[in-house]
Amino acid sequence: MSYNAKTGKGLGNLYKADRRCTTHREWKGLRDTFYDYFRWLKMLGMLGTTLAPVLPQLTKGLMRYRWLVSYLTTPAFVDRHTVGLRSYELRYAHLQFFVVLRNSAKMLCDILARDENLNPKSKRAAKLREKTVIFDEMMPIQIMNGFPTLKGILIQMLPIFEAGEIDQQANMYYIDAIEHYGLASDVCPLPAADAGCCVVDDFPKIGSAYISSAMPCDGSAASTMFSHRYFKMPSYQITPPQRFNEPEVQEYAIKNLWGAVEFIEKQFGVKFDWDSFFEGVKRYNLECGYMIDKWDINCTPYPQVCGAALALHREYEMQIASSLDPNFVKYDAKVSALMKKGYEKSKAADDQPKYRAIVWSCPAHYYSNFTYWAQNCWGIKTLVDMECMLAYHHYDEHDKQKVLLDMARGYERMTMRSHSNGGYVNALDECWKICEQFNANIVFMYNHVSCKNFAGLQGLFEDQARERGIHLIWIEHDLMDPRTVSRKAMRDRVNRYMTTVFRAEPLDPTLVDYDDDLTW
Ligand code: SF4
Repeated sequence: MSYNAKTGKGLGNLYKADRRCTTHREWKGLRDTFYDYFRWLKMLGMLGTTLAPVLPQLTKGLMRYRWLVSYLTTPAFVDRHTVGLRSYELRYAHLQFFVVLRNSAKMLCDILARDENLNPKSKRAAKLREKTVIFDEMMPIQIMNGFPTLKGILIQMLPIFEAGEIDQQANMYYIDAIEHYGLASDVCPLPAADAGCCVVDDFPKIGSAYISSAMPCDGSAASTMFSHRYFKMPSYQITPPQRFNEPEVQEYAIKNLWGAVEFIEKQFGVKFDWDSFFEGVKRYNLECGYMIDKWDINCTPYPQVCGAALALHREYEMQIASSLDPNFVKYDAKVSALMKKGYEKSKAADDQPKYRAIVWSCPAHYYSNFTYWAQNCWGIKTLVDMECMLAYHHYDEHDKQKVLLDMARGYERMTMRSHSNGGYVNALDECWKICEQFNANIVFMYNHVSCKNFAGLQGLFEDQARERGIHLIWIEHDLMDPRTVSRKAMRDRVNRYMTTVFRAEPLDPTLVDYDDDLTW
């Protein structure tokens, strides 16, 4: 599909209202199409070899777990995030997504090998479960770097969190299940789906101790209670402070974090291995360095690794792989080398984005490629995303007390904590600071309709954006439930703003109005 002055790349024609997948693959020119196809084969090869050892459990699992079926659509997920991309940008996206998917495939392999539901009589699976700690999503699984003989697995990550990003339909069943159970329908779909998955007994049974927490809101506090009752295992609750800018709270935060270490030591009869932990810390610092390099380049007139390739990768690297997977550093190095070449090429051609934007507030899981749509349709490049602005400070590599403080500060800034619930300074002041640093005058302001925490700041955001001459485009969504606000309705908010305020013409008119309600 080459560029046509009337239709742009014609990317909207890839979608049909009655189709779940795209109608055909995009033609990106000979070289890029060949590269795209090669990466597609490489990804399928990686998934095949990683999951081959658990093929019988995978087959059983597809009959047992509804969420697992969504992962069959993984190739379509990658296609969604590479559509319209060319040259270096295409390569960044493939590399960034590949390492994330490899980590997820390994996690799936670990889950399937341990799961009591799929291996009820297996002694090997039982032994693996005895050495496994399960964590709530957003919890500092990073501490498992200090327990090399044990395994930590984020229990909701594959069934709920990532499944909803892979397939927009994935979480609906669990949301409906908990609502049929009596939950009000205006509760945030994330804790609702977590609780629904408990109610229909769709979490695998894979561990023998549980590190839990509430995400920073009432809905999550309630869903944590469900999880405690459902998992029925010894548990420890980590509760990072919300108002973390005050230094007084840090003493409590360190104590709370160290309490989790002592809990694991006691439950499993092992000692925390500081040497091994500091190895993980070094990896974390390297990963942070690579990410800050990407940001630095994105602050220039020639941004490189943008949109979901930047945001989702960092979210997974920091929060899920949590420096437990050395592959991230390896791939970061590759992307970094490529990025420097890409920057030089863009600079030589003076290839600057038409519009520069940042993403603020909590994005829709079911539309993680939204920023690529904005880029393909309107030429708006997303330079940074609140989701990737988790911990980005370096941790101390030698001092035990200091590193715990650094880690506590990292988890205080986790997804939904600092920017959604951390108050005025972290949500509002920081937004303008980031706009200034990245030289962006558009903010995609996600308005999660079921998250009451952010809503209180809406008026202040609008007033202050007006004073600063920043275009604040509010985009409603319902995080994991596309039935409340569809992808199309999200796009319409930007379309309206671009045509009425900017009086802009779309780069690809076929992307302005198309129907993808059914697609994964
Ligand atoms: S998005 Fe808001 S309501 Fe939902 S879990 Fe996060 S903080 Fe809670």
